[in-house]
Amino acid sequence: MDFDDTPEEVVFRAEARTWLDAHARRIDATSLSDLRTFRSRTEEEDEANLDEARRWQRTKAEDGWAAPSWPAELGGRGLSPMLAGVFAAEEAAYDVAGRMFSVGTDMVGPTIMEWGTVDQQRHHLPRILRADDIWCQLFSEPGAGSDLAGLSTRAVRDGGEWVVSGQKVWTTAAHYADLGFLLARTDPTVPKHRGITAMAIDMRAPGVEVRPLRQIDGTIHFNEVFLDEVRVPVESTIGPVGQGWAVALSMLTNERASIGGGTGYSFEQLVQLARENGRTDDPTIRQRLADMFTRDEILRYLGYRVRTASASGRPPGPESSVMKLAVSARYEIGGDLVIELEGPAGTLTGGDAPHGGRFQDLFMGQWAPRIGGGTDQVQRNIIGERVLGLPGDVRVDKDVAFRELPRSSRAGT
Ligand SMILES: Cc1cc2nc3c(=O)[nH]c(=O)nc-3n(C[C@H](O)[C@H](O)[C@H](O)COP(=O)(O)OP(=O)(O)OC[C@H]3O[C@@H](n4cnc5c(N)ncnc54)[C@H](O)[C@@H]3O)c2cc1C
Repeated sequence: MDFDDTPEEVVFRAEARTWLDAHARRIDATSLSDLRTFRSRTEEEDEANLDEARRWQRTKAEDGWAAPSWPAELGGRGLSPMLAGVFAAEEAAYDVAGRMFSVGTDMVGPTIMEWGTVDQQRHHLPRILRADDIWCQLFSEPGAGSDLAGLSTRAVRDGGEWVVSGQKVWTTAAHYADLGFLLARTDPTVPKHRGITAMAIDMRAPGVEVRPLRQIDGTIHFNEVFLDEVRVPVESTIGPVGQGWAVALSMLTNERASIGGGTGYSFEQLVQLARENGRTDDPTIRQRLADMFTRDEILRYLGYRVRTASASGRPPGPESSVMKLAVSARYEIGGDLVIELEGPAGTLTGGDAPHGGRFQDLFMGQWAPRIGGGTDQVQRNIIGERVLGLPGDVRVDKDVAFRELPRSSRAGT
């Protein structure tokens, strides 16, 4: 593989940079005084961040950059995964809220292109592109995370509507989302993977209650969502009834393909932090810095690998599991290192801590990428089975009707 830009990529990168320079401020990734902060601890900060992210999304939409891998006729640029990756990497070097609507642009949009009706595509895609509608992903439940197909939220048909009841959890952005991409059990008499249906749900419909979960770093990122006899028009069903598992797999594949990229600070900023705290002569710290440098390089090459796989028409497969593991290891090892570099000041938080507590946020936030989008252990299972050819997990329930499965809650039957 050639790691240098191809002539096409050189031209494209220059075009992307020219556009970004004209519309945003480039960050100095070598300086600790230019660390990116984009967090909100209060409703007002949430609103302000959302407004800023929406403004940026609409600016991009004006010139076809809001979802550049979407076809041009749908408002994108029809870019290959490789070129879309080049744009994402360039955008990450600017002081913008670039990833706030990725559930819509990277996950829901492509899934609706694959499974949605023409009417659904016409209605939803332009609204996703301009962030007129913000989406959340209503998959995980208290009893169904890694074993997502075991979900028990049920949808029962009543004339032209589904009546949906159950509980979702860990729903990122549900507290400000307009629409939810929901998986519900519509047939408990068949095995668990076969009785699921996907649908779009209005997050402000009667019966939807969103309860934000405040995290250890003081921010609200995800929520519990309670659904009590919520009425959903059958026209909002996405894909065929009973084939929600296949629809969900499309969405999860798109999610894994979009995970990666930046981890909050550059290697140069890390070295600067070590220097600022007088730790660069410490041999164990030097060794750990070298480890971080190596990890960053590996991540860069894994990124090429994932994009090359998609560029050659292969869907993102086990490469994205390897990538996901490498990203979460970077968060974990880097999160511990930054706090150690700050010494006693590492125990402070918020405005009392050095650099406004940015490194404390990174330390406390390290668990999110290790769990979200499939846990590290689940990624290891995928690599074990699909790359190393190890025997599969024992799956005793795959041919048993969902309602026959022993469960702590009977909500889905
Ligand atoms: C930051 C973040 C954002 C998220 N956003 C969303 C969202 O927007 N929408 C949504 O639907 N969900 C979301 N999630 C939920 C996420 O998908 C689940 O947390 C994840 O799939 C794990 O499920 P669980 O929490 O139920 O843990 P469990 O599945 O109960 O796992 C508990 C432990 O058991 C291990 N384990 C489970 N099964 C196996 C196995 N077969 N082999 C080995 N180990 C196993 C796990 O690795 C874990 O350590 C988010 C999570 C996080 C952290």
